[in-house]
Amino acid sequence: MPRIFSGIQPSGELHIGNYLGAVKNWVALQREFESFICIVNYHAITIPYEPADLKRRTHEMAVSLLAAGIDPNTAALFLQSAVPEHTELQWLFNAITPLGELERQTQFKEKSSRLESVPAGILNYPVLQAADILLYHADIVPVGEDQVQHLELSREIARRWNARFGEGYFAEPQARLTPTRRILGLDGQAKMSKSIGNTVALLEEPAAIWEKLRPAVTDPARVRRTDPGNPDVCNIFQLHKAFSDAATVAHVDAQCRSAGWGCIDCKKVLAASMEIELVPIRARAAELAAKPNLVTEALGDGAARARTVAKVTMAEVRERMGLD
Ligand code: ADP
Repeated sequence: MPRIFSGIQPSGELHIGNYLGAVKNWVALQREFESFICIVNYHAITIPYEPADLKRRTHEMAVSLLAAGIDPNTAALFLQSAVPEHTELQWLFNAITPLGELERQTQFKEKSSRLESVPAGILNYPVLQAADILLYHADIVPVGEDQVQHLELSREIARRWNARFGEGYFAEPQARLTPTRRILGLDGQAKMSKSIGNTVALLEEPAAIWEKLRPAVTDPARVRRTDPGNPDVCNIFQLHKAFSDAATVAHVDAQCRSAGWGCIDCKKVLAASMEIELVPIRARAAELAAKPNLVTEALGDGAARARTVAKVTMAEVRERMGLD
């Protein structure tokens, strides 16, 4: 069975950008692929944080992922910190990765420009990501568009390591994008991201979602209610395409272009479509929140399965690098 690796940071709540860009794909693919789904808590500590807060968010992320449909009997769901081979392989990859390549990464440039003092972990983030993926010899990495450049670096690291220590050992992982590969925040400005704080959480209550949807940015050229809109440039329409059925999407498109509906009408229909998909997810999350042991057991079992694979990779890598 071909393998998938995917990671998500526990630095905030699982949001609909993560869900549509990545998690929904993991759920769909878990039966076709041997899946390793990792809550990447080592990636989350490169920014200031409170330990108790991180622990709570990590548990909540596991709850959200299970509620969204990750089946722990099928996929291995685990914490990065429970498999020390991730950081071990990262060190070995650090040794062969040129600094310039890391400095060129868009996310590094963006994140470091916002900080006065830049932790080395932010620079090395994609090297740890390469270790995360290659440790499991993953064939496919289902990600949102923001991760494609990092994945290219993982492929480069695999090529460089192979050339030096064992041709063909690491297969080059391929990205698998969803149709909704980049969801914007409701301000319509930047991508929806936990670190920016412009998110709609997957488990948010309908009233809270509506409070965010109501003022959300639509087609900026549509100023008056009577102006026809262009759905192609509207973030709300992107969300319709993800949450509403095909007939509704076609109807929304027509109503927008003819100014038949105002943006509020359109948003109300979106809120209803979102509810249909999110109600069962919220219900499962409430059940799991009441049974924390189930979550801990799922993570423990996932870590044991991940480690079995990780240990074999590390033994082979150490041997090829003269480190055994
Ligand atoms: P965040 O940027 O919110 O911290 P992560 O870096 O933890 O999210 O990414 C988890 C997964 O979700 C990745 O596969 C990423 O590509 C995807 N993802 C994150 N934000 C978005 C978005 N706005 N639209 C689509 N996919 C996204």
